[in-house]
Amino acid sequence: VREADWRRACELIRGAEEVALACHVCPDGDALGSMLGLGLALRGAGTRVSASFGDRRFEVPRLLRYLPGQELLTEPGDCPAEPDLMITFDTPSVDRLGLLAPNAGKAQELIVIDHHPSNTGFGTVPLVDPAAASTSMLVEELLGRLGCALDRDIATCLYTGLVTDTGSFRHSSTTPAAHRMAARLVEAGLRTDEIARELWDRSPFSYLKVLAAALERATLDREAAGGHGMVWTYVRRDDRAAHCLPYAECEGIIDVIRRTDEPDVAVVLKEDDEGAWQVSTRSKGMVDVGRACTLLGGGGHVRAAGFTSHDSPERTIARLRAVLGPTT
Ligand code: 5GP
Ligand code: MN
Ligand code: MN
Repeated sequence: VREADWRRACELIRGAEEVALACHVCPDGDALGSMLGLGLALRGAGTRVSASFGDRRFEVPRLLRYLPGQELLTEPGDCPAEPDLMITFDTPSVDRLGLLAPNAGKAQELIVIDHHPSNTGFGTVPLVDPAAASTSMLVEELLGRLGCALDRDIATCLYTGLVTDTGSFRHSSTTPAAHRMAARLVEAGLRTDEIARELWDRSPFSYLKVLAAALERATLDREAAGGHGMVWTYVRRDDRAAHCLPYAECEGIIDVIRRTDEPDVAVVLKEDDEGAWQVSTRSKGMVDVGRACTLLGGGGHVRAAGFTSHDSPERTIARLRAVLGPTT
């Protein structure tokens, strides 16, 4: 991030009476945590804040309902259409803002806080650092530069972004800076055990049944990805319906599938309520899944990426197989 852009961002935020915040559609812990963390700090400083995401069905994922600051959330339809100052979080391209993309297009000033390598460079003030483990790390730096103190609620939001995007401090993105930030956040009073329980130990019993169906049909394809191998499975809408499990509860299945040692790549295809397939891909580092998913209309990081498909799982896997290759 250029020093001049940090300064410009601080200047714009300090001068604003009202700020419109937006994160990417289907928000995850980093998107929502970063946005609400900054939102709480700005509200504390006396700024009027609206925070939103552009999903047609505007609903905070169950997993993230513990996040403080949800009173800042505004339906996308009620967001300022031509904001003087808008800030986006964890959003690599305008289209990932969904219904809020037009608002960003009409914003007088647009600060973009993000860590995706695939960031397109949209906005007037880019605070984009692909080396940051989470967008919330950039938000913490911004708060420091603004002179905003961390309280327990802000820390809970920022920690959620950090712990989810680093896979609980396991991924390669987990730098000393990430651990130092975690220490500062814990010092602000949050309870890491309570957040861990919220994020990972609250699946309904029916999750086990759907997970079982997914595990039952997992396939190991040793030849895929230039010989680095791929394990894949899928979750049908009908599997979920049989056990009354909402789509959002299937997010963690990829974390089970990727535990397999043999392949570098793990893939889970999840059929949503509209019948589209959301594809989650992970790699252990030999293969760039971000590149592959970008080629298929999605995006993401080298080791975690995704795209949407309207084909059957088999045909989608065939297309993915065709674009997966070793990087280095
Ligand atoms: P997940 O598999 O957890 O849904 O997504 C993993 C990563 O891939 C996320 O960090 C997100 O940035 C990226 N990603 C997932 N789906 C899409 C998509 O449809 N488009 C883009 N651009 N990125 C995606
Ligand atoms: Mn995200
Ligand atoms: Mn992120």
